[in-house]
Amino acid sequence: MRKKINILALSPEQFAVLLSGLGHPAYRAGQILVWLYQKGARSFAEMTNLPKSLRQQLSEFAEIGFLETVKRQVSRDGTEKYLFALADGQMVETVGLPYNIGYSACISTQVGCKMGCIFCASGLPGFGRNLSAAEILAQVLQIKEELSAQGKELKSLVLMGTGEPLDNFAAMVPFLEAVRDPQRLGMSLRHVTLSTAGLVPKIRELAALKLPLTLAVSLHASNNTLRDKIMPINKKYQMEELLAACDEYSKLTGRRITYEYTLIEGLNDGIKEARELALLLKKRACHLNLIPFNAVPELGLSPSPQPVMQAFVAALRSSGLKVTVRRRLGADIAAACGQLSNKMSGDC
Ligand code: SAH
Repeated sequence: MRKKINILALSPEQFAVLLSGLGHPAYRAGQILVWLYQKGARSFAEMTNLPKSLRQQLSEFAEIGFLETVKRQVSRDGTEKYLFALADGQMVETVGLPYNIGYSACISTQVGCKMGCIFCASGLPGFGRNLSAAEILAQVLQIKEELSAQGKELKSLVLMGTGEPLDNFAAMVPFLEAVRDPQRLGMSLRHVTLSTAGLVPKIRELAALKLPLTLAVSLHASNNTLRDKIMPINKKYQMEELLAACDEYSKLTGRRITYEYTLIEGLNDGIKEARELALLLKKRACHLNLIPFNAVPELGLSPSPQPVMQAFVAALRSSGLKVTVRRRLGADIAAACGQLSNKMSGDC
């Protein structure tokens, strides 16, 4: 049997081509997009203003690639974690995070991860595969729909789930197009943050697109010797190269970079590191987001104690750097940063 076309991945233009191939006028594309993105239709049968013949053809040749919700867990703090099954049986996790201004969805871009950062759970099961743009978009649509059923609104997206988004660049571009297209999600890219371990050539490629997207860069170290030890990608792209690419990103997009730094006890949390970090960042158009380390039992690392963290923050702030500390959300259901690894698939 021929593989059906997943219409979640289609742009309005591609839609119009598909429809004309089926012998229908292009304006039907607009009607279908309203059903999909505004009315939350899950089947062609629901699209009652389309002729029956078109609905029939679409069910034969196309599909709406929603993901199967295998499990949903809710944290004490209101964070919601979903385990979704993809069509080939692989699984991904997506998280809905409550903030004062509304909800944020933390989206996965790959099954597993190749980066091998020593503090992160995402790569523990190994690398599965890249997600398609449609599979990434489906996570957003499904979280959005769940939230709106509870009277809540999705305000922002963070590409910080499992995987390295810039290692799946080919899917990122059509995904971001769908996010900002007024006929589809219609969300400003100013409310989207993409976090990367530091794939320098891809940061430069993204910069050239001049999207108003926030780029978050996982630094986690203040010098190459330390970063080489904890993030294998640093052996390929050293910090000087990475920071230069980030400067170019800021210059071309006019956006400040968010540098992420997870504080791990005894590893990167000393005053020496704080001072080195201040020297590296204080002249740059950036903001530093400190992340309390979230425990991953297999990794044998611990979060920095409160006083150590406070001293680290104070040393950085005294240098004039803009520093924030990320709120820890969803830790009781292993939904916090670095804890996603599809563990839920084992116990359901
Ligand atoms: N691949 C992307 C997205 C990772 S998740 C990247 O590397 O940036 C988002 C952030 O959480 C990253 O900065 C990541 O390094 C950090 N992180 C990973 N494991 C963590 C853990 N156990 N505790 C706290 N933060 C962690």
